[in-house]
Amino acid sequence: MSFSARLLSWYDRHGRKDLPWQCDPTPYRVWVSEVMLQQTQVATVIPYFERFMARFPAVTDLAAASVDEVLALWSGLGYYSRARNLHRAAAQIAGEHGGVFPPDLGQVMALPGIGRSTAGAILALAHNQRHPILDGNVRRVLARYHAIDGWPGQAEVERLLWQQAEAHTPAERIAHYTQAIMDLGATLCTRSRPRCVECPQAAACAAHAAGEPLRYPAPRPRKTLPERQATLLLVSNARGEVLLEQRPPSGIWGGLWTLPELAADESAAQWCRRRGLCVQEETAWPTLRHTFSHFHLDISPHLVRVDDAGGTVMEAGGAVWYKTDLCDQLGLPAPIKRLLARLGRDE
Ligand code: SF4
Repeated sequence: MSFSARLLSWYDRHGRKDLPWQCDPTPYRVWVSEVMLQQTQVATVIPYFERFMARFPAVTDLAAASVDEVLALWSGLGYYSRARNLHRAAAQIAGEHGGVFPPDLGQVMALPGIGRSTAGAILALAHNQRHPILDGNVRRVLARYHAIDGWPGQAEVERLLWQQAEAHTPAERIAHYTQAIMDLGATLCTRSRPRCVECPQAAACAAHAAGEPLRYPAPRPRKTLPERQATLLLVSNARGEVLLEQRPPSGIWGGLWTLPELAADESAAQWCRRRGLCVQEETAWPTLRHTFSHFHLDISPHLVRVDDAGGTVMEAGGAVWYKTDLCDQLGLPAPIKRLLARLGRDE
């Protein structure tokens, strides 16, 4: 029995057949449901879909609405660019296709926010046209079934997956097959707990045979980020104050308050001496790592207890004494907040 035959027979017994967009599956209704389902669970989508259809029963109703009204009905679903694209695409259908959802794959893919897989799914589910689909669920099923290595975001891996999606799509019962493969990924071949013993494909599934379905599909490769080091001074005085500096408005931590950074060629004692501060005690704290999107910052905190009884005016150098218990009223980066909290506890 083929992949599609096993899937269809499983669908006849277990598939979902009573979802709101499955009754009267016009291309417009299927399109709206597919877009709503892109980042959202079925149970959440159902009431949104029903309200949306009650207000915009036809694509021309959606085209005639204001974008504000569309966004209001979308409110709570998130990823609002989906709603804006729906609205723009509806206007395009009204303007360029006489208000009729186009029946051709190329025309559907030319609409805003509709990629190859969604276009294929709409035409397969609404018109039983034979098009393969490759959404996140289908990628996972096929990557496991064929034990396809590599991250599906890579062009070569994606090409292999589309090839398999095309090869498995049957000549008949396209709408049922399309629904079935999405359902299999959503209900049995799930991301973290695939239920292989209940799966109709188990006997022929390569990942299951190897006992490692979770190995597929490979996750997005992590970039190795460069590492930078910084020594930050926790200069504190006997009045329970600490020296803080405000960062320039642009760059990392722009406009936030941080601890003074020690230059590589200077010691903490020299730094203090230049500012007329008399060091009483120095302690190196363990390094802590903070990760930005484009680098790791390894922070070496250096605690310096000083006697500033001389009344040095630190403000001139851009550094300001702050009571540690008042610091949380300032905009502070998370690792600095943690260091100050520790300093507060130690005092
Ligand atoms: S046997 Fe397991 S890994 Fe293979 S398709 Fe089915 S649920 Fe997914």
